[in-house]
Amino acid sequence: MFVDSHCHLDRLDKTPDQLSDILQFAMRRKVEHFLCVCVSVNDFQAMQEAVSLYENVSISCGVHPLHQDEASTYEELLNFASADNVVAIGETGLDYFYSKDTKDVQRTSFIDHIKVANVLQKPLIIHTRDARKDTIDLLTRYKSASTNGVLHCFTESLEMAQAAIKLGFYISISGIVTFKTATELQEVVRQLPLDRLLIETDSPWLAPVPYRGKQNQPGYVVEVAEFIADLKGISVEQLASATTDNFYALFNRIHRKCG
Ligand SMILES: [Zn+2]
Ligand SMILES: [Zn+2]
Repeated sequence: MFVDSHCHLDRLDKTPDQLSDILQFAMRRKVEHFLCVCVSVNDFQAMQEAVSLYENVSISCGVHPLHQDEASTYEELLNFASADNVVAIGETGLDYFYSKDTKDVQRTSFIDHIKVANVLQKPLIIHTRDARKDTIDLLTRYKSASTNGVLHCFTESLEMAQAAIKLGFYISISGIVTFKTATELQEVVRQLPLDRLLIETDSPWLAPVPYRGKQNQPGYVVEVAEFIADLKGISVEQLASATTDNFYALFNRIHRKCG
């Protein structure tokens, strides 16, 4: 069984009926759980309502580094993120690739998220692009020893992955790894330890080969898994079982259905 550790179901171009079809399709492909990740506290309640029907969809709360025009205060974030059904804090982090001018607000927001994660003891979901040093430095400086999390949609260096793993983090790989141009990332993934690996779609964006150009959806996490299993020279079943175990170990507020 697979899980999609990071998707944005509220951002899919769909009607509520189609959302049900999209999840059914994924379940037929043995994707058993979905983590729907919040990108703006303003949208948190609407996102929560959109997925509330589905027992196998969990939610996070946070403000994406590129949504700083919708930034929340520390108190607002803490308030929303305290809800029992919120299993993680994010996505948060730093993106200097798309937005260098907002570095300062991104950093302030990231620090707030780390503090909320420390207080609530919920894992962090981190988006990081072209901000290797600052991401690791801020985590090292502000997170408490027991706070952990994941670097999602990872496309950075092996050194950065190793630094994050040392801090207790997992590394999540999206469909980018299937792109022909992603040779460096493929080499990194080959070397990442299986017990620190997660898989995701980040849908509706970044559809894996052979669906490039289409809207991505959680069912396509299977193609991500197949590609990584092949890279690592293991069976898809082994890859699925390891990444699913890792998912429940990290997001330990989600109750795993047995059998
Ligand atoms: Zn992201
Ligand atoms: Zn995302």
